[in-house]
Amino acid sequence: MSSKYNLPRGTFDILPDVSYKWEYIIAVFKNTAKLFNYKEIVTPIFEEADLFERSSGETSDIVQKEMYKFTDKKGRVFALRPEGTAPVVRSFVENNLAASAGIQKLFYTGPMFRYDRPQKGRYRQFYQYGVEAIGSNHPYVDAEVIALFYTFIQKLGLTEFEVQINSVGNAKVAERYDQALIEYFTPHKDELCFDCQTRLTKKPRRLLDCKVKRCREIGQAAPVMLDYLDEECTSHFEQVKTYLDQFKVPYSVNPKIVRGLDYYTHTAFEFLNHKLGAQNAIGAGGRYNGLVEQIGGKSLPGIGFAGGFERLLLSMEEENLFSGEELIPQVYVVAIGEKAQAQVASIISLLRQENISVEYDPDKTSLKAQMKAADKIKSLYAIILGDDELERGVVTLKYLQERKQIDLAISDLSSYIKS
Ligand code: AMP
Repeated sequence: MSSKYNLPRGTFDILPDVSYKWEYIIAVFKNTAKLFNYKEIVTPIFEEADLFERSSGETSDIVQKEMYKFTDKKGRVFALRPEGTAPVVRSFVENNLAASAGIQKLFYTGPMFRYDRPQKGRYRQFYQYGVEAIGSNHPYVDAEVIALFYTFIQKLGLTEFEVQINSVGNAKVAERYDQALIEYFTPHKDELCFDCQTRLTKKPRRLLDCKVKRCREIGQAAPVMLDYLDEECTSHFEQVKTYLDQFKVPYSVNPKIVRGLDYYTHTAFEFLNHKLGAQNAIGAGGRYNGLVEQIGGKSLPGIGFAGGFERLLLSMEEENLFSGEELIPQVYVVAIGEKAQAQVASIISLLRQENISVEYDPDKTSLKAQMKAADKIKSLYAIILGDDELERGVVTLKYLQERKQIDLAISDLSSYIKS
């Protein structure tokens, strides 16, 4: 069969043979977030485009090349959200969540949109999970956020991953560092890619994130941020590491982590799975101490992370971690004869009221076809309804795995199935 319509490039359908895996990963994420006392927040999938343009930085790739921007009927300019942090902070400020005591610990899941070149592990509509902890600059919070991510990945059973951390300093430090990068890269200007030549004057740190081979080679010997940190930044970073040790999160320091967006300060981190190929980041995050104020709130520090469900799914498939199966109904109902078929719904409904999952196929009428179907879906029980039995108020309960069967009063069915 070929459909008259195709799905948009860079998107995918989540079909039944995969959806149960999604459901599982999402559930593990939500449970882990709750274990750390994070509360769910849900924001719209589109926002004023300006929210992203200002917060992410006008020179970021997301804003420059990847935003799905559109104008609505009243001429307002919106964007499908490319990331979750700015919307969560917008909601935090707009709903005055800062007024409640303590740190606001929030988590989200949902689709994000980026007009990027699709490839394995990179899509135009993809699904992220993420957390944001807003209201504290304490290094403990940085470590706890990383520990939450680590716990989640561990609970999924993944082993092929690595945690890398870095400090990107504060605004003052970043200015000195940018200067050093300009001095370093300027003699190589003609060899850099077109984007990096612009980055050099606007946001030199982005040069370090460039994927072009030659730019990467030149960047190899570039100055590293860690050498420019002041006392406050160094102390913050050291404390994060100490707390990570206490949380038993293994990590390595990678001074090259810069993060693509403008709003990051202090701790930056990435979770990588090297077996995934080019798109090997399972997730990433960092501290954003200027963002809340920039979006119109008080000057409050924050930190968070986001990761993509697709790359987790790929990683889990690679490590063979899905032993679970698609939903299997407990009971397959077999109705033989016209009277039984005409009354089947009342018995099915009775079972479902008792929370017993039931499958019945009205288009199969013979005993053989229905028993074959029951075997195929691997349900535990078949309930056989015949015209005569129905008159007597009894049914046959067949234990499909054990090849045993008993006759029962309809009213006793649920107690047998549960036990
Ligand atoms: P970022 O906001 O770019 O740091 O992305 C955080 C995480 O989201 C990445 O580590 C990926 O796991 C995932 N991600 C980002 N962009 C995409 C994409 N286009 N397709 C699939 N996953 C993505």
